[in-house]
Amino acid sequence: MDRATALTELFLESLSAEDQDLPNLRQAITEVAADVITVEKNDADWAAARVLRRLVEPDRVISFSVTWTDDAGDVQVNRGWRVQASNAIGPYKGGLRFHPDVTLDDLRFLAFEQCFKNALTGLPLGGGKGGADFDPRGKSDAEVMRFCQAFMRQLAPHIGPDRDVPAGDINVGAREIGYMFGAWSAASGTYAGAMTGKGLSYGGSEVRTEATGYGLIYFVQAMLARAGRDLSEQRIAISGKGNVAIHAARKALAERGKVVTLSDTSGTLYDPDGLDPAAIDWVAAQKAAGGDLSDPPATLRATFEADAQPWSFEADIALPCATQNEIDEDAAKALVDNGVTVLAEGANMPTTAGALKVLRKAGVLYAPGKAANAGGVAVSGLEMSQMSHRRFMSAEEVDQALRTLMSDIHDRVAAEGQGGGSVDYARGANLAGYRRLARAITAQGVL
Ligand code: GLU
Repeated sequence: MDRATALTELFLESLSAEDQDLPNLRQAITEVAADVITVEKNDADWAAARVLRRLVEPDRVISFSVTWTDDAGDVQVNRGWRVQASNAIGPYKGGLRFHPDVTLDDLRFLAFEQCFKNALTGLPLGGGKGGADFDPRGKSDAEVMRFCQAFMRQLAPHIGPDRDVPAGDINVGAREIGYMFGAWSAASGTYAGAMTGKGLSYGGSEVRTEATGYGLIYFVQAMLARAGRDLSEQRIAISGKGNVAIHAARKALAERGKVVTLSDTSGTLYDPDGLDPAAIDWVAAQKAAGGDLSDPPATLRATFEADAQPWSFEADIALPCATQNEIDEDAAKALVDNGVTVLAEGANMPTTAGALKVLRKAGVLYAPGKAANAGGVAVSGLEMSQMSHRRFMSAEEVDQALRTLMSDIHDRVAAEGQGGGSVDYARGANLAGYRRLARAITAQGVL
């Protein structure tokens, strides 16, 4: 066992039994610790400040009941959380996820990852995450509004533009942000940037909706450029049909790539010659209507492959954009066999530890979500400053700023991760994020 692995195991053992038993949190911590723990041990100040231990421990976890009335007049009870992980480099910042399966384990790992992601943007953004075990599927618009208002009644006292600035994540988009921002504004009696992902009519930023997906493509372009390649004619397998997947697909097409798949839990929409804009629009419409991809109209060239994963088709680049741990060891083997040489994560931690080993062994260029999908939160950072200035940028300006931010993140990560003629983007992202956090935490003393 090498020193980093031994130290990582000791570190994990030093955590509370409760935290050690949270599988996703453990996976996220292990991946970071394996890269940064020797760096911490070798720096007397950072070791003394116990930077990593403090990052694993969220500043606070707020847990609350969300009680609301459905359309039938019946009282419903859900559970909501906000994990405020670290505000060492800025106000807590991160999305809210509404999903029946969401657990505190998910939100803890996501908040931990968010600290590193936000540090990589170079912007003043701390880390947080939140959500509820609410299933928006099948709910009426009025029910979603009442749920969002009830959620915000509980959360409002804990957030604010200089305190904690939530945004969207899975199943939390423009509609939900609108209802929650309205409820926050009513509760606080103020009008300020306490949330991002707002609509353009009330303080949102151009390109925020598209930012995670567009940013992912800009990051991949920077990776390819470094390797002397470009996106033109590259076959790109994308999983998911949500906001990240759709906008990554649209941008990939605009940059002359061929998007061969989009998917959901029912199966994969596949076109070896590349999905056209009409196919991508249909997927977006299905998602918006709460439908699945199983019955594409005959006018589309693409075919639907029931229960198939996008990784079972030939491709050059894989962009997992659905959810955590969607690529296991078998899926990783399949995508390597199908020709994938670059994998960049649009979702947060979509690749299991076993899958990562397969990718590393096969020499796949791998970009972790904390770097590759940072475009969303980066434009959230721009939204915060636009709201504070009361001065808004054009779509062209934001898009250009996003390109620059992604290319800067790429360069920061590549500089940390290069060695032996290649780049380890996972290591680079962990080290670059860690160094910024460690400097800030150490400078501010023991709190
Ligand atoms: N949920 C997004 C993420 O995973 C965006 C967070 C934000 O804009 O605050 O980074």
